[in-house]
Amino acid sequence: MSNVPVAVVTGSNKGIGFAIVRALCKQFPGDVYLTARDPGRGQKAVAKLQEEGLHAFFHQLDIDDLQSIRALRDFLKEKYGGLNVLVNNAGIAFKVHDTTPFAVQAEVTLKTNFFGTRNVCIELLPLVKPYGRVVNVSSMVSSSALGGCSRDLQQKFRSDTITEDELVELMTKFVEDTKKSVHEKEGWPNTAYGVSKIGVTVLSRIQARMLNENRKGDHILLNACCPGWVRTDMAGPQATKSPDEGAETPVYLALLPSDADGPHGQFVSNKTVRTW
Ligand code: NAP
Repeated sequence: MSNVPVAVVTGSNKGIGFAIVRALCKQFPGDVYLTARDPGRGQKAVAKLQEEGLHAFFHQLDIDDLQSIRALRDFLKEKYGGLNVLVNNAGIAFKVHDTTPFAVQAEVTLKTNFFGTRNVCIELLPLVKPYGRVVNVSSMVSSSALGGCSRDLQQKFRSDTITEDELVELMTKFVEDTKKSVHEKEGWPNTAYGVSKIGVTVLSRIQARMLNENRKGDHILLNACCPGWVRTDMAGPQATKSPDEGAETPVYLALLPSDADGPHGQFVSNKTVRTW
């Protein structure tokens, strides 16, 4: 088993994830894994870094596929005895003008952004070593979508005692409500992506609380963040930040020094803790 520190970035064959891997290759003192659901796209991305003189390792990971997540888990357990840095970056968004029915957009978006990210956490968080760092890439859209929720939902999503099961129930209810076309009546905002990212931010707050309760002495720091508005296939060419600039906050959180006691359980953008 290798004692070398190891970092894993999900959805890193392109966009912000790729830029996070690039930065970690330069700054993280250990092995960096670029992961992708498609091995061809993943290997191509690794080769692109190689041309820049950077070395990333590749492992397949489709966060929609439990078998794929578990294969990565077993690999990390066997080769490294765990992991030190996990960046949950993989995500999807329908384009604004996409005509796919809203209920389908809701189901598909929540499946990857919330349930897929959660499944990665279920399998990989127990492997995170002391002083590990976990970064869940959410979005400022989670804050604006929270503002568009009913008072009752806002209260639930801001609660310091909401459980993971309760959050899962709420995310499932959103999808069901869109299918019955009652989501607005039920207090939800009209954005599947926004609700999925509320899920990611609230999940991070819960996970940080659980780490405090169950692994207090391990000094693991876990946060959600927004990378900013970044020029990628998701956000388009008008966005204000380059992918490398978008990677800055996630990388800052991934590399918080071992003597840092925060941020933890926060929503961070531009390296600054935001009020949730
Ligand atoms: P992107 O260029 O579309 O890249 C998304 C990445 O996620 C791709 O590598 C994609 O792989 C991967 N992915 C999607 N579904 C996956 C799955 N089931 N399993 C594994 N990988 C999967 O988007 P981006 O702008 O870099 O976004 C990265 C993250 O930042 C997302 O979580 C996004 O919501 C968040 N974000 C972005 C912005 C922005 O302005 N760009 C703002 C706020 C937050 P494929 O190539 O195989 O599709």
